[in-house]
Amino acid sequence: MTTGKKFYMDVVVCGGGVAGAAAGISAARNGMRTMLLESRESLGGLCTNGYITGIAGHIEGICKEWLERLHAEGHAVMKPHLPTVEPEYGKLMLEEMLLQAGCRILYGATVIDCVVEDGRIKKIIAYSKSGKIEIYAKVFIDATGDADLAFMAGAPCEVGCAEFMGLNQSVTMGFRLSYVNLEKYKQANAEWNEYLKTRPPEEHCSLIVHKEKEAIENGDLHELLSPGNLVYPMPVGNPECTDVTLDATHTFDCRCDDVEDLSRQIVDQHRKVVWFVDFLKKYVPGFENAVLTGLASMNGVRDSRRIIGEYIFTAYDIGNAKKFDDRILLHPECYDAHIPVPGHHTASRHIHHPVPVENAICRPSQDDDDHIFHPFVRPGGYEVRVNPRLWCEFPFRSLIATEVDNLLAAGRCASADYHAIGSVRVIAASMAMGQAAGTGAAMAVKAGVKAIRELEGKLVREELIKQGVPLDQPPGGYWENIRNFKGEPKITHNDYVCLYNEKGEHPFIW
Ligand SMILES: Cc1cc2nc3c(=O)[nH]c(=O)nc-3n(C[C@H](O)[C@H](O)[C@H](O)COP(=O)(O)OP(=O)(O)OC[C@H]3O[C@@H](n4cnc5c(N)ncnc54)[C@H](O)[C@@H]3O)c2cc1C
Repeated sequence: MTTGKKFYMDVVVCGGGVAGAAAGISAARNGMRTMLLESRESLGGLCTNGYITGIAGHIEGICKEWLERLHAEGHAVMKPHLPTVEPEYGKLMLEEMLLQAGCRILYGATVIDCVVEDGRIKKIIAYSKSGKIEIYAKVFIDATGDADLAFMAGAPCEVGCAEFMGLNQSVTMGFRLSYVNLEKYKQANAEWNEYLKTRPPEEHCSLIVHKEKEAIENGDLHELLSPGNLVYPMPVGNPECTDVTLDATHTFDCRCDDVEDLSRQIVDQHRKVVWFVDFLKKYVPGFENAVLTGLASMNGVRDSRRIIGEYIFTAYDIGNAKKFDDRILLHPECYDAHIPVPGHHTASRHIHHPVPVENAICRPSQDDDDHIFHPFVRPGGYEVRVNPRLWCEFPFRSLIATEVDNLLAAGRCASADYHAIGSVRVIAASMAMGQAAGTGAAMAVKAGVKAIRELEGKLVREELIKQGVPLDQPPGGYWENIRNFKGEPKITHNDYVCLYNEKGEHPFIW
């Protein structure tokens, strides 16, 4: 193929999902000649093109700015937890913020190769309508979600989970429905939750799962398509006739770095989404008139390749509420690794450890659900769950690739073990990683360091604080309310830890 254009930049960001967009904005705001390459024709990745519109994690920095700007224009639904963005306007706002910062955007440009010399990426090669293009830069940020650039550059990566024989988390394709009566659905949910208070814990499940079981008995569904789900409200119409996005149906036994398996997942999801919409319309109050108006153009891959960075952030760190000098984000969310194989639980909210973990909620291993949570091996020791009153920190070192001196990774391909990425992949954290990677890249270029690992991570933390990211105070708002709630931690039917007071109330909003 002929080589077309050549570009010479300070910082190049590969991938324009939420992590890449935040990285591009941040590097450009820090004075770098920055270019972002995105293989699709819009920004936001899974959050927008994948219809994962609910923002989890501790929302600060560029993520907060994006959300507030969208809300000011009527394109976000603000809630204490999981605020939602309208995906089309979400894309446009990221584009506006990148261009205002001075970052160049190349759409329709897929990074396909790179040239590494003396342990540094010299240039990347992308496929585009101009043929092969070459982009030279001082620092590269891999925000492809799949660590594509790190893999091409020969930087060490890992994929999947040993406990699940290398499988990835289950895959779920998002979709959008119009003409939904959200008020009616919420009312039905509230009534169902009241009813559950009169039932023993073994009968507890969500309203949708309950209805799915009914549909299976009636022969309208042949399997449980969604062992759990979230309905994300959109700022459209009125509550009695609005749009929602959902991610509900699961495909199992996934290998998310294999093109044939990815294609199988997509076909499987296409069928399941259509079945699920038919089911919702027939069985779930509020969805009677729903119309499928959007099927994600990006498959709902939760995890694939992750870099092996200067520090591998661990699930133990999350349970232990570990603090780091070079912290770049605070993370108060629980474990959320979606189980790779079928079962009646969606995700595992616990890990196992030989002895109780300080700061975590621990109990000796229970046998009840072990075959579902751990189908290949029964881990013993203790079940460890995140204490909802605490939070951990994520270090800058987990963005720095090893063996390649000028490469950072941000978002769901950062350096973390399987259960840790299962938690810290959420949108607010991915954007915080992007912001830190962009800032760190700029600092590395300005300091003229030979390798990014020479940069002191705590200086990046200090710089982020100057940018208004409150890394020097505990998470506020929703998280503060949970911290101060007077109640006792209890494990729920879906494996969460919730704080309950004497009246049975709890402060969580999913
Ligand atoms: C089903 C599901 C439900 C989820 N639920 C939630 C939730 O409720 N709340 C929450 O906060 N998070 C949730 N998450 C997690 C969250 O959505 C993602 O982890 C996060 O959006 C990842 O962002 P990213 O930028 O790292 O990657 P991605 O969104 O994957 O973006 C990567 C971008 O890079 C581009 N790209 C890839 N390869 C190349 C290449 N070679 N060249 C050029 N461009 C490339 C892609 O087109 C894409 O735009 C969910 C995820 C899934 C799958």
